[in-house]
Amino acid sequence: MTFCHEVHNFSAGPAAMPAEVMARAHEEFRDWHGTGMSVLEMPFTHGDFPGIMESARAKLRRLLSIPDNFHILFLQGGASAQFSLIPMNLLAPGEHAVYIETGHWSVKAIQEGRCFGDIRIGASSRITGFTSVPQITDWCVAPHARYCHITSNETANGLAHHRHPDTGAVPLVADMTSDFLARPIPMTNYGLVYAGAQKNIGPAGLVVVVIRDDLVHSPRQAVPPVFSYQAQVEANNRLNTPLTYSIYLADLVFDWIEAKGGVRSLYQRNWKRSQKIYQLIDQDGFYCCPVDTGYRSIMNICFRLPTADLEQRFLREAADAGLLNLGGHTQTGGVRASLYNALPDAAVETLFDFMIGFRLRYG
Ligand SMILES: *Cc1c(COP(=O)(O)O)cnc(C)c1O
Repeated sequence: MTFCHEVHNFSAGPAAMPAEVMARAHEEFRDWHGTGMSVLEMPFTHGDFPGIMESARAKLRRLLSIPDNFHILFLQGGASAQFSLIPMNLLAPGEHAVYIETGHWSVKAIQEGRCFGDIRIGASSRITGFTSVPQITDWCVAPHARYCHITSNETANGLAHHRHPDTGAVPLVADMTSDFLARPIPMTNYGLVYAGAQKNIGPAGLVVVVIRDDLVHSPRQAVPPVFSYQAQVEANNRLNTPLTYSIYLADLVFDWIEAKGGVRSLYQRNWKRSQKIYQLIDQDGFYCCPVDTGYRSIMNICFRLPTADLEQRFLREAADAGLLNLGGHTQTGGVRASLYNALPDAAVETLFDFMIGFRLRYG
């Protein structure tokens, strides 16, 4: 297959997939391992598919060193469904949960969660325009709170919790959609971690939920059975047809991460290449990243140019040069470069050079 020119896809999600994964999926599409069947055509209860799902689960457990007292579920509805399902499963009437508000996605989690429970804001960086993460010493989390929710990486605002907060006996719940598998996770800090797949794992619609044993109990409110953590754990994640093909693609991505040396090695690379772009941004006043230096995302680099006109020109010329999907989130504007795991180093180099050239031309 040939393209007119090479393109680099900086999409915030659905995002670029690893080229090796696409090639392997393409090769196996019609006939998986000589079975004469596509994974799309396999029954989910017997034959080869259960093995594919087990393999995906085992690899993910290895990649993130997930202890045995955590369950891994592949569910549907994307990350957003979890905004409602977490309180529905975990919060009984009279109980409350605490959310840390740091940007677009935590605001959504709070708004949607409030339809299903008493949700209080334990700390917020709204006053800064979501350019920092509140210090944990300023978080107000009552010891009887049912859980504390964070958004580990704010995809739209470009900021992140670089530390893994210790919330003591209050289970920490994290939306890790946009930095899952981009850095190691000390799972003992967490009670529940979830991630929509379309950033670092695979196709949209799939959401990975990693949940500690003691949080798997009968839902505290009425919940459709397919969305009950307990019912799915008891059915070994096969209460209904899971997203078979998406899980297969996730399995290939997990293979790819192992071949890349694992999550720690990707993290080092992700850190290094994001710092390269941030350093360029900070060189003079032409580019500007509003996020405080201690909280800048290693996945989504958000920055501005001196004028809206220049931003439009930047995006236009970048697209002409094959650098695609660099527009900021619809609510925040500006420029956003998403440097997810699958983005090749060459794309970051090309962006770096383009940014230098653009500044020379218009700075
Ligand atoms: C993309 C994203 C979501 C939304 O994911 P859907 O699968 O579209 O629901 C939620 N949280 C974060 C942090 C995201 O980046």
